[in-house]
Amino acid sequence: MIPITVVDVADAEPLVAEVLRSGVIAQGPMVKRFEGLFAEVAGTKHAVAVNSGTTALVASVQALGLRPGDEVITSPFTFVATLNAVLEAGATVRFADIRADDFNLDPDAVADAITERTKAIMPVHLYGQTADMGALMPLADERGLHVIEDAAQAVGAKFDGKPAGSFGVGCFSLYATKNVTTAEGGVVTTSDDDLADRLRVLRNQGMRARYQYEMAGHNYRMTDVHAAIGIPQMERIAELTAKRQRNAQRLTEGLTGTPGLKLPQVLPGREHVWHQYTVQVLPDAAMSRDELAAALTERGVGNGIYYPKLVFDYDCYRGHPQVPQVKVADFPTAAAAAEQVLSLPVHAALTDEELTTIITTVREVLGA
Ligand SMILES: *Cc1c(COP(=O)(O)O)cnc(C)c1O
Repeated sequence: MIPITVVDVADAEPLVAEVLRSGVIAQGPMVKRFEGLFAEVAGTKHAVAVNSGTTALVASVQALGLRPGDEVITSPFTFVATLNAVLEAGATVRFADIRADDFNLDPDAVADAITERTKAIMPVHLYGQTADMGALMPLADERGLHVIEDAAQAVGAKFDGKPAGSFGVGCFSLYATKNVTTAEGGVVTTSDDDLADRLRVLRNQGMRARYQYEMAGHNYRMTDVHAAIGIPQMERIAELTAKRQRNAQRLTEGLTGTPGLKLPQVLPGREHVWHQYTVQVLPDAAMSRDELAAALTERGVGNGIYYPKLVFDYDCYRGHPQVPQVKVADFPTAAAAAEQVLSLPVHAALTDEELTTIITTVREVLGA
């Protein structure tokens, strides 16, 4: 089986052992070192490490001072953490449709979704390509809105040369399957000194010095054990990303012209970091998306559907006081994507032989 993701952290063993031997295992010097490496990649003055991508999002909404009734506009085509984080922080979520070319928030749809209660836009840089920040940032500035980037899948991605996480408040995930992992973990990036300070205090029970509480905080801390896992990956992130980019290029070369298959696009001015290589199975393909997924699995080619439904389209969100009651049909582009997307392996551990197998299997199954 060619897996859809591979966790490759064996090179962290000496550093993790160093932490274990030191006895400083909770948030300490390794977290600081990891934050330094991360801020460099995100192009920001600060990186605040936390214990998950979800808590990075929650902490950002809280640190920006959003309150119950305030609205955050985001994508309906995302992982559930995007939605759950806004709800956890007490705000109301509002959805805007995505664009067909990058699967990310459509700035025109965002403009239409803004109300007097809107306080923030939360673009999701899905699959490793940023949203159209060239349109979203001026829109946010004009309307006085915060931008919280859900960059969970986009460490190292760029828009017009500027890194993901440096436009608004950047929120990254370091979960096991992400491009960089600490097993579990997250990071918030910003160049705003006051915001970074609030995030650091919030992360540690709202405590500035011992038993000096400044706000109702939480325990969002990362441990030095986890930071040590991530440091070697951050040191070779350029190489890891370049591998994913080469793999994506190989897949595109090999799959071009496959009938019924739409390949992912890298839009002008964007640097894609290929968290996922996601094709679309069109209605005129030899088989449905679900049939293709099953056929590939049967032939040993791992694959994934991210995401099979719109994020709000579950019973637990129906009638939820912080989720406006919307219909799938209100988001036709996102709804079509949910029916058609299929991700193929693109991770940095793929061999040339595996890439060839993926290409020939997909072509064979679709009768190309
Ligand atoms: C992974 C992910 C998250 C959540 O990150 P965790 O580290 O799993 O909490 C949030 N948003 C998106 C788009 C993700 O892919």
